[in-house]
Amino acid sequence: MNEHKIFKQMKRLTGQAIGDFGLIEDNDRILVALSGGKDSWAMLYILSELCRRAPINYELIPVTIDPGFEGFDTAAIQQHLKQHGFSGRIEKTRNKERIDRHLKPGTSYCAFCARLRRGALYATATKLSCNKVALGHHLDDHIETLLLNQFYSGTLAAMSPKLKADNGIHTVIRPLVYVEESMIEQWAQIKHVPQIDCSCPQLARRDQKRQKIKEMIADLHQDNPLLKKSLLKAMAYVQPRHLLDPTISSTRNQPIP
Ligand code: SF4
Repeated sequence: MNEHKIFKQMKRLTGQAIGDFGLIEDNDRILVALSGGKDSWAMLYILSELCRRAPINYELIPVTIDPGFEGFDTAAIQQHLKQHGFSGRIEKTRNKERIDRHLKPGTSYCAFCARLRRGALYATATKLSCNKVALGHHLDDHIETLLLNQFYSGTLAAMSPKLKADNGIHTVIRPLVYVEESMIEQWAQIKHVPQIDCSCPQLARRDQKRQKIKEMIADLHQDNPLLKKSLLKAMAYVQPRHLLDPTISSTRNQPIP
């Protein structure tokens, strides 16, 4: 498939998600979280294109949070933004320093880092008068999170395409919820977008569990090409009566050991 066809398909799926979940409304000012990875670039390109043709008015403000990890290449991000006519901004933070100084023994480096990054995103959204924050999680992220939570956290939860942030002010949206990672990968390769990782010391370790889930899904996908769609659909057709949560079902009598 050529770049035009893949992009058109990704745009159609994103437009569908925007419509299904009411992700974008008139006069929205949307902070587009641009990590520098392929997913965030895809989101920026797609939303920009949709914005140009939308019957409503909304603004996109690409923002990269620089956590301060050595080697995080913000210059490459800025250069690509400039070359392609985007006006983005880099928000420098002292997150790495704060993690190094305040992380308590036995607590999760990633959880602390993610909390600080979220805080920086919301603070920047407030500073720039943005009412929404767009994150580039794609279909595979959603179903992997669903399985990760079941396998490792004992919860039945994934990520919502539209959610009021914990601060009660901003709305977090995930417009790529219907877009498969493989499409983004193909597009990113053809388009030659820079793929910048955060250069953090935990990346490889954090991704091990997700990688296992990815491999499991890929394996099962060979026998069942509809597997990913089915998992995504399952999140939209929850049947609480057939689950064990006592707060939503009267069927549970005994605690599960
Ligand atoms: S993988 Fe790295 S950047 Fe991501 S949350 Fe963990 S420490 Fe932070």
